[in-house]
Amino acid sequence: MEEKLTCKKCGCEGAQDYPLVTIRTMTVRSGGSTQKYQALGEVLSVNLCPQCIDAWISQRSKPQPQYRKAAKLPLLLIAVAIAVHFLGLEGLIRWVLCLLFGGFGIAVAVSEITRIKRETAEISAGKGKFSRDHMIEELAAALLPAKHQDAHLTYLLRKRVLDEKQLYTLSREYGISGRKLASIRSYLLTTPESEVNKGLEEPQLPEKKKGFFKTRNS
Ligand SMILES: [Zn+2]
Repeated sequence: MEEKLTCKKCGCEGAQDYPLVTIRTMTVRSGGSTQKYQALGEVLSVNLCPQCIDAWISQRSKPQPQYRKAAKLPLLLIAVAIAVHFLGLEGLIRWVLCLLFGGFGIAVAVSEITRIKRETAEISAGKGKFSRDHMIEELAAALLPAKHQDAHLTYLLRKRVLDEKQLYTLSREYGISGRKLASIRSYLLTTPESEVNKGLEEPQLPEKKKGFFKTRNS
């Protein structure tokens, strides 16, 4: 008998099972440098219906709600610039500070508008990194915990991690080390399904870095 799966988002029946692989990323800042450590997290499943996936893609392809969210920082910076103008500081300092905050605010606004325009156009067209699979991963991430202890969690479709040809794409989409992804892929291929979640280590950083892979310094 076919099992009826319930959608995690809307609760309706007729959902599909999407096996996921969680990647845990710990960011450690010390002495002005930032280091990222990544490890395999839980392997789990999320059930989603096609209607919720379509609705998510349609919502994400609309620029207006994202403009509203992205406007907060530029507006704050411009408000600071206006406040500085009325602080009664000496002429030159006042103008330099106004230009600095105002200019930064405008620069942030322009870069955010450009990014949102590009992203929403790519999502509508299903182009760039915004394939349907990527959007399913996004929706799953919106419904699942974003953090485990201090580690940020990224959810990848298991079928993409197992597809060797997609590892480079995944690495670019999410900033995950390609070598780490390759080692996770071979772990998943060689470990029985029932054993996969048994060998996971708890993230203990920065002293105990076992299981984590240093990806880059920045
Ligand atoms: Zn649904």
